[in-house]
Amino acid sequence: MLEGLACKSARLEEEPHLVEYVVVHELIHLLERKHNERFRALLDQFMPNWRVYREELNGGELAAYESFDLG
Ligand SMILES: [Zn+2]
Repeated sequence: MLEGLACKSARLEEEPHLVEYVVVHELIHLLERKHNERFRALLDQFMPNWRVYREELNGGELAAYESFDLG
């Protein structure tokens, strides 16, 4: 368990744009709680490349994290 967390932290440190995606994603949750149309529209507005970053995350160890499962 702790090993897994260490892996995730290491991966995020290596890829700052993924950290940015996570932060923007969580900030948008302050405006819109659900992963709906409005949520995606806000992501588009603040981070037009978010789909690319999501693909990167979904292809990696963080895939299981709920926040990246936007359907
Ligand atoms: Zn989320």
